[in-house]
Amino acid sequence: MKHLFFFTSPLRDKILSLFLVLAAIPALLLGWITLVLLDQAHRQDVLVIEHETLRAKEEEVTTFFSDLMGVLDVRLEALDAAEITPGIDQWQSRLAEALRAEHDEFVEVLFVSPEGKETARASRTPRGGPLLYVSDLPAFKTALSGMPYIGSVYYTATGPNVVMASPVRAGEEVVQVVIAEIDLSLLVRSLTAHRLGETGYIVLADNRGVYVGTESFGSVKPGEHIVALIAQLDETDRYESIFSTTAVAGAKRVLLAGWTLIVEWPLAEVDTIIDDIREQIIVVVAASMLGVVFVAFLFAARIVYPIRSLEAGARRIEQGDFESGVFISTGDELEELGKAFSAMTKGLKRLQELKNEFVFIAAHELRAPTTVIKGYISMILEGDAGKFSGTLREYLTEANKANEQLLQLVNDLLEIARSEAGKIQIQVVPLDIRESIDTIREGIKPLMQEKRLTLSYERPTHALIVQADAVRLKEVIMNFVTNAIKYNRERGTITISHETKDVGVVTHIADVGFGIPKSEQGKIFEKFYRTAAARESGLQGTGLGLFITKELIERMEGTVWFHSEEGKGSTFSFSLPKGNDTLSS
Ligand code: ADP
Repeated sequence: MKHLFFFTSPLRDKILSLFLVLAAIPALLLGWITLVLLDQAHRQDVLVIEHETLRAKEEEVTTFFSDLMGVLDVRLEALDAAEITPGIDQWQSRLAEALRAEHDEFVEVLFVSPEGKETARASRTPRGGPLLYVSDLPAFKTALSGMPYIGSVYYTATGPNVVMASPVRAGEEVVQVVIAEIDLSLLVRSLTAHRLGETGYIVLADNRGVYVGTESFGSVKPGEHIVALIAQLDETDRYESIFSTTAVAGAKRVLLAGWTLIVEWPLAEVDTIIDDIREQIIVVVAASMLGVVFVAFLFAARIVYPIRSLEAGARRIEQGDFESGVFISTGDELEELGKAFSAMTKGLKRLQELKNEFVFIAAHELRAPTTVIKGYISMILEGDAGKFSGTLREYLTEANKANEQLLQLVNDLLEIARSEAGKIQIQVVPLDIRESIDTIREGIKPLMQEKRLTLSYERPTHALIVQADAVRLKEVIMNFVTNAIKYNRERGTITISHETKDVGVVTHIADVGFGIPKSEQGKIFEKFYRTAAARESGLQGTGLGLFITKELIERMEGTVWFHSEEGKGSTFSFSLPKGNDTLSS
């Protein structure tokens, strides 16, 4: 069964493909869908966490501003009388000072009259100078209209600052405006101190999209515009960060007055878990694919192996081997098929035996009368029955030829039947092949003369010992030589030579006759095969000689081959095992 894994088998490949289509592709698809869904769920989870964080931080920022705004929301009726008297300017100065002192974030607090003139000023570091007109400031204008005001970030030596302003009311009337400069350092520090996981961070931008920070973050300096990043966050949640130049998962939240909080979480941390899960899924899918392929191989082997056995069995039958049946033990229909095949082999064997028996009996029965006819015709031709006319001689000669051919056929059939029934006895002994050829040379002289052929035998001077059956060897050489005579041209030559090689002693019988066309060379050792040229030439033959010769050579453990060129001649060669030099008597 092992060879099935290494050799090509179209059926196995089909079964594998089927398994792949039915099992592996769905597994891949499922794995892929799981990965995609997992990825989506994970992205969603990350966004949820980021938005939670942003919400919490929004509250912090909002509380920061609304607390300060609450402080700046001054109402005259709520103040103590002592604070307002004796002069209006004094209560403003005192209040400005009190407010500034109370909150570390206040860098400076101004009170401004509705006309836009500063009425009081309290600074962290007093700057002196006259009180100014600030009626052009948007902070003043907004607060005077009754609205609280939060400006944009600007930087001073202390860090990021922002201006807030609020109307001062007496009842419903705006009687003053309070403007405060707020130091954002504390707020920013508190925001940047917060971490999301190990590496996530929070960034604040003001209403113009300016980065609010106390120091540079990556390549972004405090006060630099990050509008593009804020816009990008509307499009995507995963991108290359400008703060850390790594891929991040980001989210933003727009706060009061158009300020924005941004959270960024490097993917290296965010995707650690999902990467592990992804790897596990890939490993599981790959393992199940391998499993499918392995099972498919086993399954294919289970199907293909018995079929291969049947195929091998059929080939053995084709080669004439009816002995070895097929053994399949799969416990299913294939096993039944194997049994049926073996039974069929037995049936075929029986048929073969019957055929051989028939051929043998028919040939045997035909040989006796044919031999008798041959004898009588010879006797008549030799004049034993008295004188007869020339025409009768002619007829009898033709009848004799036909009878000779019939006898040859009968003898060949008998030989084949014997061979197939395993009845040919081969007794291999060491013998000098030169002597076998010498005897044949004598016997074929008359035939050679008819066609005026010359035979040249390159006879070695020393004995050439081969392992062969003396009678069968003569038959073999005789067949090659008679063919070389028969299929030679008038006055042609026949050359017999030997070679000693590793395979043994090789004998070549070459003629210069009409040769065998390439297209027919593969068939001439087949039973009854005669080339078209041989059939059309009118030369007698059965097409069984070479078949029997090959069989005999192989039985003597030799091999046979030939080279032939149409119109130029053929060289038939056969090898026989070398014998030792001690000849049997
Ligand atoms: P047969 O000679 O009785 O026809 P063989 O089995 O001896 O049968 O030869 C088979 C065929 O091979 C011949 O009919 C002939 O076509 C071809 N053949 C055999 N020997 C030669 C040869 N020496 N030259 C050309 N053709 C040959």
